[in-house]
Amino acid sequence: MKYRTYLIFGAPGSGKGTQGKILGTIPRFFHCACGDVFRALDTRTPVGQAFLEYSSRGELVPDEITLRLWMARIGDTVGSHAFKPDLDSLVLDGIPRSVNQAQLMQDVIEVKKVFHLACPDRAALITRLKKRALKENRFDDANEETIRRRLATYDEQSMPVLKYYGPELVRDIDATQSPVKVLTDILLAIQEES
Ligand code: ADP
Repeated sequence: MKYRTYLIFGAPGSGKGTQGKILGTIPRFFHCACGDVFRALDTRTPVGQAFLEYSSRGELVPDEITLRLWMARIGDTVGSHAFKPDLDSLVLDGIPRSVNQAQLMQDVIEVKKVFHLACPDRAALITRLKKRALKENRFDDANEETIRRRLATYDEQSMPVLKYYGPELVRDIDATQSPVKVLTDILLAIQEES
C-alpha cells in the first residue's frame, strides 16, 4: 500500500515548514519535514557529517543517503503508530527535492497534490531566510553566498520535480500572501480533491 501524500514544494524561505507544521496539527494528517530529520541527527555520525558538509555549502545531500534516512524515519513513525498510513495523509516538505528522489519514492508514496509555494521575488526570499537565520539559528541561512547557492540548487535540481508530477497534480499557490491565506488556499484545494 502506498502512502497517500501531499507535497509542499517551494524554494528555501517560501514557507513550506510553516504550512507543513500547521497541517500536521490537523487530525488525520502527518507532517514530515526532511530538513528536520537531518537536523535531528547526531552530527558525529557519518550521515550527520554528510548533512553538515552539504547543507553548509548550500547543496543537496546525495539522494541515496537522503532516501535511506527518510525511509528509515518514515518506517519508525509507522512502527510507533505516530503515522497511521491507513488513516492519515502524509504531508511532506523538503522531499523529494530532485527528479531522482521523486523516482526513488514513487513506489512508496501516492501523490495526491503538489502545493507549489511560488515566490518569484528572490529578494523577498533572501530577506525571509536572513530573518530565519537569526531567529532559528540556522547556519545554512547565515551568509548570503550560501543562500544564493541554495536558491540556485533549487532552480537547477528541484524545479524539474514540478514537471515530473505535471500540471494535473501541481497547484501553484502565491507564497507572498499572508500565512493564513496560503493555508486557506491549501485547505480549499485539499477539500476539493477529497
Ligand atoms: P529549507 O526550508 O530552507 O528549504 P530544509 O530545512 O528543508 O531547508 O533543508 C536544509 C538543508 O538540508 C538543505 O539545504 C539540504 O542540504 C538538506 N536537505 C533537506 N532535504 C533534502 C533532500 N530531500 N535532499 C537532499 N538534501 C536535503
